[in-house]
Amino acid sequence: MSRFEVRVSKDYLVFAAGHFITTSGQCESLHGHNYRASVVVEGDVDENHYVFDFVTLKNIMREIVGELDHKMLLPEHNPLLELSEEGGSVSVRYRDRKYLFPREDLVFVPVPNTTAEMLARYLAGRLKDALSAEGATHLTGIAVEVEESFGQSALYRESLG
Ligand SMILES: [Zn+2]
Repeated sequence: MSRFEVRVSKDYLVFAAGHFITTSGQCESLHGHNYRASVVVEGDVDENHYVFDFVTLKNIMREIVGELDHKMLLPEHNPLLELSEEGGSVSVRYRDRKYLFPREDLVFVPVPNTTAEMLARYLAGRLKDALSAEGATHLTGIAVEVEESFGQSALYRESLG
């Protein structure tokens, strides 16, 4: 059995974003990273001898990643954080610490924590939806890597079909 993979890792898949992680009993200080995403799409080649068209793949990823650029990333499903929205602002409370952000500066990410692992899984989910919207049914797997700083990254892989 043989298989092919196409990979995209481009400078425009870099996104600068703020976040903090909660761990059991602790909450990091607010800080940011220049994250870099890269993707792998796996499958057999189609009638044009492509696994998937690079231009379309790059456009999909550029759009998804662009939504996170210059934003504060907040986990939507973190039981340790109390989120409330009022008058165009979102307040985030962790015990006696409270942040107030303009709504337009935030992206709520549907994850329990904005670790590189969870961001990679989130991006893979968005990619998967976009690929099925493009009618790509022959793909067998996708992977997304999110690099948080040089030499430090998390990889999420998922089989399709
Ligand atoms: Zn961090």
